[in-house]
Amino acid sequence: MIDPIIIGTVALDSLETPFGKVDDVLGGSASYASIAASFFSNPGILSIIGKDFPKKHIEFLNQRGINTSGIVTGNKTFRWKGFYEFDMNEAKTIKTELNALESYNVQVPDDYKGAKYVFLANIDPELQLEVLNSIKKPELVVMDTMNFWIEHKREQLLKTIGKADILVLNDSEARQLFDTPNLVKAANAALKLHTRAVIIKKGEHGALLFTGSKYFNAPGYPLENIKDPTGCGDSFGGALIGYLSKTKDLSETNLRKAVVYGSVLASFNAEDFSIERLRNINSKDIEGRYKEFRDMGKF
Ligand code: AMP
Repeated sequence: MIDPIIIGTVALDSLETPFGKVDDVLGGSASYASIAASFFSNPGILSIIGKDFPKKHIEFLNQRGINTSGIVTGNKTFRWKGFYEFDMNEAKTIKTELNALESYNVQVPDDYKGAKYVFLANIDPELQLEVLNSIKKPELVVMDTMNFWIEHKREQLLKTIGKADILVLNDSEARQLFDTPNLVKAANAALKLHTRAVIIKKGEHGALLFTGSKYFNAPGYPLENIKDPTGCGDSFGGALIGYLSKTKDLSETNLRKAVVYGSVLASFNAEDFSIERLRNINSKDIEGRYKEFRDMGKF
């Protein structure tokens, strides 16, 4: 059974951090999210790549048990170019080349349509909505976005958020989208759009979960070795939906556990460029760090 379904970008990234520089490496919201989800479940991706996209990346995703039959091939792969300064919580975009994404006609394979868990990872909100409308009876829809779509497609974005159960976004995007410096106000504004929960990621400082009546604060993991935070948000969202689709338990307690698993995968991801760290971890590493998170929250 293919579950969760993840729509997002599959990209070639070029970026620089204070710790190094890489060109045309595997990136994209759906890549990170599906790899993180694959530690818990059997995700299927919906995305578009170009003829220039190296086959070895698809082979790697397949080796991880990720279904890629929902990836179509267009002209040229989506490319993102960016950099980070010493405060690595904020990615600075130099260039976003939408390329094939501009003429992407989503084709949802029949065996994806029965999925119960859907992650609308960061991509054009109109495409997110289109996918959502193709899934027969989703039980949980989690969605992410970023400043690019807040700036370019705000109205469409708000419409898609209205159909999601859980909105995941980072702190600066929450402030930008809801036009307030206060994260509690931003979360309440998101809850008014009928989302069941809002998760605000604060980079290395952890994540906040708002469910209307309750509030949870997952700590940030004290990482000494952060090389490249690209994809941390996507790894967070992928692990969250992967864990929820595995456990099929949407209680407040389990949602909190999912937030911690999200934080665990995001923290591993920051330790190396592209998906290199995620490539080398296993379930034992994940459980070990999960326990460390549990201990950090005790007082
Ligand atoms: P994150 O660091 O989790 O916010 O996401 C980083 C990934 O998002 C990179 O691998 C990029 O390829 C991808 N990305 C950058 N800009 C966009 C965009 N406008 N829409 C979708 N994905 C993007």
